[in-house]
Amino acid sequence: MRSASTEKLAIIGSGPAGLTAAVYAARADLKPLVIEGIDAGGQLMLTTEVENYPGFVDGIMGPELMERIRRQAARFGAQFLTDNVTSVDFSQNPFRIKTGDRTIVAESAIISTGASAKMLGIPGERELLGRGVSTCATCDGFFFKDKKIVVVGGGDSALEEATFLTRFASRVTIVHRRAELRASKIMQDRALANPKIDFIWNSTIDEVYGDQTVDGIHLTNRGIGASRRMSIDGVFVAIGHTPNTSLFTGQLELDSGYIVTTPGSTATSIRGVFAAGDVTDSRYRQAITAAGTGAMAAIDAEHYLAELAVPLPVAA
Ligand code: NAP
Repeated sequence: MRSASTEKLAIIGSGPAGLTAAVYAARADLKPLVIEGIDAGGQLMLTTEVENYPGFVDGIMGPELMERIRRQAARFGAQFLTDNVTSVDFSQNPFRIKTGDRTIVAESAIISTGASAKMLGIPGERELLGRGVSTCATCDGFFFKDKKIVVVGGGDSALEEATFLTRFASRVTIVHRRAELRASKIMQDRALANPKIDFIWNSTIDEVYGDQTVDGIHLTNRGIGASRRMSIDGVFVAIGHTPNTSLFTGQLELDSGYIVTTPGSTATSIRGVFAAGDVTDSRYRQAITAAGTGAMAAIDAEHYLAELAVPLPVAA
């Protein structure tokens, strides 16, 4: 049943996908309610300079980019709720979305909850998180002035984090489990040319040790099987991400945790629920592709709502 307090569109998540969906939906006069989360803004809030978002010739800091898109959405009438969603019920329309102390009733929903950093799952990692172990160079790099740091991973994230950390650290060592990097050529060239960065290839970290803070790691070379200890002050884990879909398990079709959408659209397995950004995307995972699918989701939601509003033809 619809009531005056039923939202036309609820957007869950406030990274580039959610906020771009909000800009488009607000401009379509849907007055979207963005449930932005306590840690609003998504992964770009944990990023330094974004150099590949079109239109910013000299780059832009991630948090500033997010703030700008948020203000752009607010300007057209998007509303924001700074809370986390605790559960959703998509089994009947209007949908029900619960936060700490509210139940939001909405005719349509866009899910743009993004993805979270993966952890290694080794002894000492969780225990020393925030005390030398980190997944965010932007947040924590400052605390490692003139320290020795290890970055784990061989993708763009690892190389970006490592390059950024050279601003503070005396030495940054990238530990990669293979002898070949996964990162893009430009990031590789930049890291390989940086005199403060060195590499340990074919190696994994088995343990992070330290009493109050990180003192070192235990490393194993996968080729020869040799293990050793290495003294360092910090470990930055940059090995990829997991989609944030635990709220939707059993309600929406998922594939390896990612929300399945109909090719060429943002429609999920439930009519009226759309998904955009990294929560659906295991391949591109760029701010600009997330923003693009956010725009698509708003347009799809708008069409869906327009169809709902058309009265059914009366039988002759
Ligand atoms: P990714 O490309 O999936 O790379 C993850 C890296 O971590 C890989 O090198 C992988 O090793 C390693 N890894 C995974 N699990 C591991 C484990 N348990 N132990 C040790 N190593 C492990 O993830 P990403 O670097 O986060 O990048 C994700 C996407 O975002 C990519 O499309 C990337 O281009 C994009 N991105 C772009 C930028 C930029 O353009 N500025 C910045 C960051 C990210 P293997 O190589 O052996 O699999």
